[in-house]
Amino acid sequence: MRGLEGKVVIVTGGAGGIGSAICRRFGEERASVAVFDINREAAEAVAAEIQSAGGKARAFAVDLTSQDSVITAVTAAEAELGPIDVLVNNAGWDKVGNFLDTEKPLWDKIVAINLYGALYMHHAVVKGMRERGRGRVINVASDAGRVGSSGEAVYSFCKGGLISFSKTLAREVARQQININVVCPGPTDTPLLDDICGEGERGEKLRTAFTRAVPFGRLGQPGDLPGAVTFLASDDAAFITGQVISVSGGLTMAG
Ligand code: NAD
Repeated sequence: MRGLEGKVVIVTGGAGGIGSAICRRFGEERASVAVFDINREAAEAVAAEIQSAGGKARAFAVDLTSQDSVITAVTAAEAELGPIDVLVNNAGWDKVGNFLDTEKPLWDKIVAINLYGALYMHHAVVKGMRERGRGRVINVASDAGRVGSSGEAVYSFCKGGLISFSKTLAREVARQQININVVCPGPTDTPLLDDICGEGERGEKLRTAFTRAVPFGRLGQPGDLPGAVTFLASDDAAFITGQVISVSGGLTMAG
């Protein structure tokens, strides 16, 4: 990818399935990677892996549901690595269930990580990009936010919100040459999907249903996502903003 060498990149949820694959790919592209995650040990392991492959990476423990924690981590990352060129808002969380059978504490948890976490990160990072007159943001939403997904009403509410927020903020900062785009995975084989499906017969059934929903006939793999994300961060995507790309084996196609 053109133009990624030496860029400072934050990846939230960088210790997770998709996030760690994105971090590794930016490491291979010679970017400086800030691995943001609530799981400090796992974030440090991803950073160490990138370093041992000759790349540059640092781990930062952060709880995205706390604005103070986000500000502290972004300040630390900028002090260690320099001004942020690329922000990848990838962290997310969900639990499957019928909306009418759930209550506010669960909604709060889903909204806190998927929506407020993204708001805090944009607020902490994009202001600096606006001052510098350049920057890239790639938000990892979900096909659930485009076409809905059974049992994921609150999550779909958040991911749909993240998509429209991205399009709107993209307009707000376009004159400052900041691009904000969205990548939507479909069902992808990560710890989150394991968690959503659960174990036993019900878990197997859910996994089969998710797989059948994908025209390609397989679940996404974490390695399916970094190509679209690094492309949107690269020089080749300089004139693309406010767009949504599904990386989900055709899940959103009709029929
Ligand atoms: P994952 O569970 O493997 O990774 C998520 C990471 O986020 C974990 O490392 C976790 O520690 C971190 N995290 C969770 N809460 C946090 C918090 N409060 N502060 C900081 N870090 C926190 O999940 P994944 O499947 O890799 O998901 C990555 C993104 O892709 C998410 O936004 C998810 O919604 C989206 N997505 C995933 C799928 C899928 O099927 N796996 C489908 C569509 C969209």
